[in-house]
Amino acid sequence: MSKVTALTAGPLDPRAIDELATSFRGELVRPRDAIYEEARRVWNGSIDRRPELIARCTGVADVIAAVRFARTHDLLVAVRAGGHSFPGHSVCDGGIVIDLSEMKGIRIDPAARTARVQAGALLGELDHETQAFGLACPSGIVTHTGVAGLTLGGGIGIIMRKYGLTIDNLLSADVVTAEGEFVKASESENADLFWGLRGGGGNFGIVTEFEFRLHRLGPHVVAGPVFWRMEDAPQVLRFYRDWIADCPDELMTIVVQRKAPALPSVPPDLVGERVVSVVCCYAGPVEDGEKVVAPLKQFGSPVLDLCVPKLFLAQQSMFDPSFPPGWWYYVRSCDVSQLNDHVIDIMVEHGQSISSPVTTIALWQMGGAVSRVGDDETAFNGRTAGHTFNINGNAKSAVGFEEEREWARSYWSALSPYHSSVYVNFMMEEGEERIRQAYGAEKYERLKTLKRKYDPENLFRLNQNINPG
Ligand SMILES: Cc1cc2nc3c(=O)[nH]c(=O)nc-3n(C[C@H](O)[C@H](O)[C@H](O)COP(=O)(O)OP(=O)(O)OC[C@H]3O[C@@H](n4cnc5c(N)ncnc54)[C@H](O)[C@@H]3O)c2cc1C
Repeated sequence: MSKVTALTAGPLDPRAIDELATSFRGELVRPRDAIYEEARRVWNGSIDRRPELIARCTGVADVIAAVRFARTHDLLVAVRAGGHSFPGHSVCDGGIVIDLSEMKGIRIDPAARTARVQAGALLGELDHETQAFGLACPSGIVTHTGVAGLTLGGGIGIIMRKYGLTIDNLLSADVVTAEGEFVKASESENADLFWGLRGGGGNFGIVTEFEFRLHRLGPHVVAGPVFWRMEDAPQVLRFYRDWIADCPDELMTIVVQRKAPALPSVPPDLVGERVVSVVCCYAGPVEDGEKVVAPLKQFGSPVLDLCVPKLFLAQQSMFDPSFPPGWWYYVRSCDVSQLNDHVIDIMVEHGQSISSPVTTIALWQMGGAVSRVGDDETAFNGRTAGHTFNINGNAKSAVGFEEEREWARSYWSALSPYHSSVYVNFMMEEGEERIRQAYGAEKYERLKTLKRKYDPENLFRLNQNINPG
């Protein structure tokens, strides 16, 4: 059982499921059930898999029961939180989905500035609770993404340059191991496991609850995109590179290339035009933020400027309409150390050939607090990256999807001389060698040792898998 071959497994005896029902409080969804079709669906519409059983857990006891059941019956296991895995790791053909999406409890301690978050919570739900106290936990940029999967891969987001990755704010985690045992992980308890959970994905067990450190933020921040026509990209990107060279940690930016979307904030004559935008967020006082972003807003001839003081919550949901569930998504990703002229030329060339109205490229500015955590302190790799590319070849359905995939691959291949690391949460099914590259040889070996300790039979293998073999 140590090698990943396919996302499939053998049939499951229905009597065994009836037996599980006696020790399981949540819903057990089978193919014959009315809600099965909805329950097996994940965010990426291009993923179409049919598990034999979906175990919708209500708490830790259900997770333990589901893990033990999977072991006893030698089932392929998929673990689902927010369901946003790009390659669809949270659903399988045959086997069992251990579905945590109903476990949504979030408790803020405003005095200690911490949050306890169950594994089914989504980013928007966490932001909603934290912002009620003027606090924030660094996470990602689309509200319907799951806290769990995002955290376990690292968690990059719009305030990370000031406050670090999501994992840099993880204080402890409750975990159900592959043996079905409950353990805690923190700097002082099972520290080896805690290291692996911070970037090693779902390889080492099922996290049932996270404890995070929070920071004062908002409610208003200066944030949002400034847009230029794609023809201006050569000048805009060069200006951008120089402008961010010595910017404060409070400023985080993402360059986006796409066709302007049909949204109320976009003038009708711009919709469908290829644009390059710089999305900002200043994690500090509004007056300071306005000063810092002023040069960007004044550069060249922007066709739309939406970078203004706004609620942090409004910024956090800004990207939601661009990534609805059900469209067909494909991603290629890489880190680059710097935005040199060659990289800019590749961006300009490929930006001009964007065809799908829903394809997007995001170039994330890294650095700041992320780069000041020691490389060995967590399993996450890529702390020294200058930028992270997320090249999304998207289509609303199967129509045109293959072309978008090809386009994304060609953009990514053109960048190959400049690839450094890669963020595991932005990977598709790319094979063991690519996973080794993602972590680097040394970290990969350390992760392997940990995997042998916590999951030697590779029960948790639908992920960016650390093969214990
Ligand atoms: C629209 C969109 C926006 C995104 N934006 C960002 C972003 O801003 N920043 C960023 O860093 N990433 C981002 N990502 C990538 C995201 O971090 C990953 O896709 C992540 O896996 C999503 O987590 P999930 O819980 O929603 O997914 P799921 O599909 O539910 O889980 C993904 C995998 O994580 C593991 N897993 C999930 N929950 C648990 C658990 N409780 N215990 C153990 N293993 C578990 C499993 O292996 C599972 O297969 C984005 C993805 C999408 C689709």
